[in-house]
Order: sequence, then C-alpha cells, then structure tokens
Amino acid sequence: MNIPFVDLYAQHLEIKEELDAAIQTVIAESQFIRGRFVSAFEEEFAAAVGTAHCVSCANGTDSLYILMKGLGVQPGDEVITSAHSWISSSETITQAGGRVVFCDTDAETFTIDPAGIEAKITPRTVGIIPVHLYGQPADMDPILEIARKHGLWVIEDCAQAHMAEYKGKKVGTMGTAGSFSFYPGKNLGALGDAGCLVTSDAKLAEWCGLFARHGGKGEHVMEGINSRLDGLQAAILSVKLRHLERWTEERQGIASRYTRLLGGMASVNTPSIAAGRTHVFHLYVIRARNRDELREHLRTDGVATMLNYPKALPFYPAYDYLGHEPGDFPNAYACQQDILSLPIFPQLTPDAIEHVTASISRFYAA
Ligand SMILES: *Cc1c(COP(=O)(O)O)cnc(C)c1O
Repeated sequence: MNIPFVDLYAQHLEIKEELDAAIQTVIAESQFIRGRFVSAFEEEFAAAVGTAHCVSCANGTDSLYILMKGLGVQPGDEVITSAHSWISSSETITQAGGRVVFCDTDAETFTIDPAGIEAKITPRTVGIIPVHLYGQPADMDPILEIARKHGLWVIEDCAQAHMAEYKGKKVGTMGTAGSFSFYPGKNLGALGDAGCLVTSDAKLAEWCGLFARHGGKGEHVMEGINSRLDGLQAAILSVKLRHLERWTEERQGIASRYTRLLGGMASVNTPSIAAGRTHVFHLYVIRARNRDELREHLRTDGVATMLNYPKALPFYPAYDYLGHEPGDFPNAYACQQDILSLPIFPQLTPDAIEHVTASISRFYAA
C-alpha cells in the first residue's frame, strides 16, 4: 500500500464536473482578472466566515503583508508572533517594515502561549499575529484581552484553519482582521496560489483592496502592489467552498479514527483539542519517540509523512540575527525533535488509516 501525504487529484475527481463547468464558464466570459467570479467568491467567503468584508489577493502571504501595510506598520515597530509556524507569519512583518518578536507556544496546542506574550511587549509593540496552527484556534480570549489593554491590533493567521471555531466564533472574526491562504493543499485550496483577508473594518478593507491593486484603477490614490486573485481560481474556490463543510467533517472523522487507533501507544502523543475549540485538522500531528526512525520505518511501509516544521522559526538561519537559544522557546524547540505529520486529506480511507497505525504499532513493538 502506498499512502501519499495528500492526494489532491482524488479531491479533484470528486467534483470534476462542477470544476470543469466553472472553468469553461470563466473562459467563455473571459473574466480572468477581477470580474463577477472574483466578486462572487469574496461575498461567499465573507458570508461563510461571518465577516463584513473579504478582500481577495494572490496568496496567504500577501494577505498578511497587505494587512500590516494597512494597519500602518512603521520601521522599528515590533510585532509578536508564534515561534512555531510557517515563515509567512514572520517574514511579512519584516517586509512591512517591522521587527519580528517571537513568542513560545503552549505545549498542548502548538499555538502561541498567551502567558508568554506580555513579557514580550515593549513601547514599540504594535500588534500580535496568533497562528491557528494545524487547524486549531489559538487561545483568543486572553490574546484579545492583552491586545485591548496595550492598544495593539491582532491579525489572525487562519491559513490552516478555515472555519475552525473558538467558543462558537469562527477564526478570522475575533481579531482586527484574519488572513487566509487557498494554497492547493490547504483545507480550502485553489488550483494554484490564492489568498484573502477578512475584516469587519470597512476602512481597512477598502485600503487593503486599493493597495493590492496598484492603489486604485484609473485614479491611483497611492502606490500599491499587484496581488490579485484571478477569475479562474475564484470560480474554482466558489465550487470548492460548497464542499468545505463536508470535507472538514471528513478530516475530523479521520483524526478521531487515528486518535482511537493510536491512543493506547505509550510512545505516541495524539493531538489534543482544547475545551471550547474545534479543530479542522489541516494537519494531524503526533509527537513520537524516536521520531526520525519511525519516519523512516513508515517510509519503507509506503507511508509519506511530513515535518511541519523541521525547526521552530527562531532557529532557521533567516533569524540567526536575533541570536535566540533553545531555552528562549522551550515548547517550540521541543517540537523540533518529536513532531510528525501523518497523511490526512478527506479522501483518506479507513484501510489506509489502519495501514498507517499498524505500521506505527509494529515499529514500537519491535
Ligand atoms: C500556508 C500558510 C501561509 C501562507 O500561505 P500562501 O498562500 O502559501 O502564501 C501563511 N501562514 C501559514 C500558517 C500557512 O500555513
């Protein structure tokens, strides 16, 4: 048995006719940039999330950058984000002119530890970017409380957590704004790069929309950038959005099957879901003893796995200049040694799941 980490073609085949029809319609109408398909998707996604505004753009990295420009980040401004994320969460702080300040994660949920944030706040701090990592929301109430107390903005990095909820509220609706990626492998993925930001702040949405499209069409009220969602991707995303709820339930079903089958193994820690939160399982990440050997064993059994991510952000060469040590981020650093992402995608079969867990069980029994 060969089990890929994700199988995007399996997802495509499920809805091929709908996708083909949508693609042909966009081509027939030649609505490639802006146009009705982009506007329709923006409205549908805003409604699905429950925010007033959705501004689409080229990818989920640009959406973070555009938001920080919109929030007026100035040279020297400090922005606090999680030590455990994809580098988009931090590189865009630098690109916007700010300074990256990393905060450690909570050992159970892999999301930013609110208890660590206040110690990182200085007079130059302007904002916080919590990341809803792997599909589970960060602990937003204390984060928002700290932000209120210190007058900071909050951008939720929702790239891995479409429609996940925290105390009944969808991610992207709690902070000043939310940022989403529609990279093909994300829970809602285009057939290429795509992203968007959502906010209930009309002024911020308007500014971000102008900035993303050369500062306005016809009348350039300012200089901007070119970061657009195209009509084909928008039409594809509209089709896929109609299936997202079912796909999310399927991901959650796969995760609980994994957890049931792995639950008894002393050498494996399965993901925990904090009270009051839903987890949409973009990734199913275990913590495993002898992780590297286990990973190799799974590979020889035909099971593809990933490390998300091989290192915590402060320990990549890109951040050598900050001079951090493992002791600065003990929880994020500990993950480097033992996290392992198992295959998860809505079409993963019960047989495949059992193949994975049986292989893990054999490894530890040996
Ligand atoms: C995927 C991802 C992004 C960036 O999305 P792109 O669309 O690939 O630019 C940002 N943050 C996190 C946490 C991500 O996983």
